[in-house]
Amino acid sequence: DAEVNEYRQQREITVEGRDIPKPVKSFHDAGFPEYVMEEITKAGFTEPTPIQSQGWPMALKGRDLIGIAETGSGKTLAYLLPIYPGDGPIVLVLAPTRELAVQIQQEATKFGASSRIKSTCIYGGVPKGPQVRDLRKGVEIVIATPGRLIDMLESNHTNLQRVTYLVLDEADRMLDMGFDPQLRKIASQIRPDRQTLYWSATWPKEVEQLARKFLYNPYKFFSFKFRS
Ligand code: ADP
Ligand code: MG
Repeated sequence: DAEVNEYRQQREITVEGRDIPKPVKSFHDAGFPEYVMEEITKAGFTEPTPIQSQGWPMALKGRDLIGIAETGSGKTLAYLLPIYPGDGPIVLVLAPTRELAVQIQQEATKFGASSRIKSTCIYGGVPKGPQVRDLRKGVEIVIATPGRLIDMLESNHTNLQRVTYLVLDEADRMLDMGFDPQLRKIASQIRPDRQTLYWSATWPKEVEQLARKFLYNPYKFFSFKFRS
C-alpha cells in the first residue's frame, strides 16, 4: 500500500521477496517485550533506524533474510533485539466453541498438573478483563476460539511470535462455522517454520483444502475403527 511505500521511499529502504511485512515505524510497533523496551528507553533511542524498521518484522516472521546497510546504521540491534523472548504462548490450540476450548483446557490442566506449564482459555461472550489478566501473567499454552483471540491480538494483549506448535482442533466444525478468514489471519502471524497439527472428525474437500493452506508436508492418517 501507498503509505508503506512512502515510508520506505523516505528512508531509502528497498525490498525484494514474497510476503514482505510492513516496516515498523516505532519501537512500540515492533512488539518487543517490556524488559527490552526499557533498555531502548535507557539507551535514549527515539526511533528505529531504517534497517531496523524493516529488519525486525522480517526476523520475527521466522524467515531467512539478507540485510544490507552501511556501517553505523544499526545492524547489530537489527538482529539482536528479535531474539529476546516475549511473554506470548508457545502453544496455540484453536477450537470452534467455548465449550470445547474449556474442555481442552481442563485436560491440559489435568495431565500437565505436575509441570510448570501454564495455560489459559480465550473465548468470546464473556468480559475480557479476566482473560487479559491471565495473558499478562504469562502462559505457555493458549486455547482459544478464533474471534476472541484476534480481538486480543489486535489490542496487543498477547502475540504469537513465540508460537511453534499450532493445533487446529475440530477443523471441520471451524470451517462450518465460517472461521476460515480468521484462521488465515491468525496463521499469518505465526512463524512459518512452526509445527501445525490439524484434527478433524470428517474429511470433505473443503476441510482438505483448508489443511493445504496451513500445513507443510504433513503426515496424514485416518482411523475409523474406534469404538469406546
Ligand atoms: P552497523 O552494524 O550497521 O555498522 P551498529 O549496529 O554497530 O551498526 O550500530 C551503530 C551505533 O548505532 C551503535 O552505537 C548503536 O548503539 C547505535 N544504534 C543502534 N540502533 C539505534 C537507534 N535505533 N537509534 C540510535 N542509535 C542506534
Ligand atoms: Mg555491524
